[in-house]
Amino acid sequence: MYSETIELLIDGVFCQGSDGVTEPLINPATEEVLAEVPHASTADLDRALAASLKGFRIWKAMTAAQRYTIMSKAADLIEARKAEIARTLTMENGKALAEAVGEVQFSADATRWYAEEGKRAYGRIVPARIPGVRQMVFKEPVGPVVAFAAWNFPASNVIRKISGALGAGCSIILKPAEETPGTAVAFARCFQEAGLPDGVLNIVFGKPAEVSSHLIASSIPKKVSLTGSTAVGKLLQKQAAETLKRCTMELGGHAPVIVHEDADLEKTLDTVVLFKFRNAGQVCTSPTRFYVHEAIYEPFLAGFAARAEKIKVGYGLEDGVQMGPMIAPRRLDVMDALVADATARGARVVTGGKRIGNTGYFYAPTLLADVPEEARIMSEEPFGPIAPTTTFSGFDEVIERANGLPYGLASFVFTRSGTLAQKTEMALDAGLVGVNHMMVSTPETPFGGVNESGYGSESGIEGLEAYLRTKFVTEM
Ligand code: NAD
Repeated sequence: MYSETIELLIDGVFCQGSDGVTEPLINPATEEVLAEVPHASTADLDRALAASLKGFRIWKAMTAAQRYTIMSKAADLIEARKAEIARTLTMENGKALAEAVGEVQFSADATRWYAEEGKRAYGRIVPARIPGVRQMVFKEPVGPVVAFAAWNFPASNVIRKISGALGAGCSIILKPAEETPGTAVAFARCFQEAGLPDGVLNIVFGKPAEVSSHLIASSIPKKVSLTGSTAVGKLLQKQAAETLKRCTMELGGHAPVIVHEDADLEKTLDTVVLFKFRNAGQVCTSPTRFYVHEAIYEPFLAGFAARAEKIKVGYGLEDGVQMGPMIAPRRLDVMDALVADATARGARVVTGGKRIGNTGYFYAPTLLADVPEEARIMSEEPFGPIAPTTTFSGFDEVIERANGLPYGLASFVFTRSGTLAQKTEMALDAGLVGVNHMMVSTPETPFGGVNESGYGSESGIEGLEAYLRTKFVTEM
């Protein structure tokens, strides 16, 4: 049973949309309708905007220690409800339950971390040129925030925005993805029960383009934060320019993986296969283009295929399932088209390459060999369980190919040589580099891309800074 009631949260009140419009929430593993997702009307959005201004004034006036007390209570509630929220997450997103549990735990941890870090939004005193003058630099919350989050991490994508904003003293209107609304609503209940003042956190759903253009056009929000595709990022940034709002853009990626000749092959394979098929490849930092040294390519392919074929694909709530479905049927067509394009250009399907079953949006873990650089999958973000691979022979050549796309989110390198690791990590044009492992996201460390993968990190002290502005006061 899906236990969450999907509601909007406006000015501290959980409610349905005022004009009664809803859309069905579909379980991507079973295709069952789980619930109806209420759409916020224009009047509801205007109420959320007004509430966020009221909430901001209250929240900003509180001390960081008071905010800490409420946020850490919310984190405790998230942790206490971890099993239930993770079930909701898996039912709406499909991912393996163990992954969902990990994501909810990340959310509790990140909330505690931001609550603590909010106490350290330090300014500074600058020695003055004029006798008797005191020069002070203050950090202040930037203002009400509007935020939009993708469905692939229904918990961590939204909590980075909620807790980052709240930790800095901002209020927020969040539009989670309509595909995965229940996780965000469950979190919102934890914050409200923890004593968050009304209007500090508001949750809305609706037609994405209509909701975002209405909220961004208002002069009330002072910042936009998006986790989503590069195309939507460009659109929202243009809209934000009208009122000169600051943006944080966590956008798409196409992570290169460089496997040098001296890599520990077994360990590398264990790591890359696990991360490639995590959340069915629907991860912005997913290892995407594999550049494998030509001397170890054949054993790499054999080891990769053997591991991929052992992955248990199915509904994330079932025992032992390691990989769930894609989020929507249209994504299966995209996978088929990418495989067809690559094979037409000379690639080989080593394993997978097709849909599994007729119910639920499952696609087989897929390995492609000898994929030419001009295949679409080498430049378009697949966002699915397909690993295109190719060979390289020289350092300069592989760096040029790895850095050859407009994206710059994650990149990975595998080698036993410290010198080679350093040389590669310095040469990669990306916001995140994983050397011999792939865990590039923690609450304490900055997460974000460069180039067309966006800008402005979340998590880490940079994540708090993103919601702060600077005020200089000079006093005589
Ligand atoms: P998307 O851009 O279609 O949607 C992202 C969010 O923006 C959703 O909540 C959507 O409803 C909302 N949105 C707001 N205005 C919109 C508009 N005008 N049109 C469409 N959506 C609008 O992204 P998606 O396909 O849901 O998610 C996958 C993408 O997100 C991938 O490109 C992935 O790499 C990226 N992503 C990035 C990160 C990161 O941290 N860099 C993390 C997760 C996902």
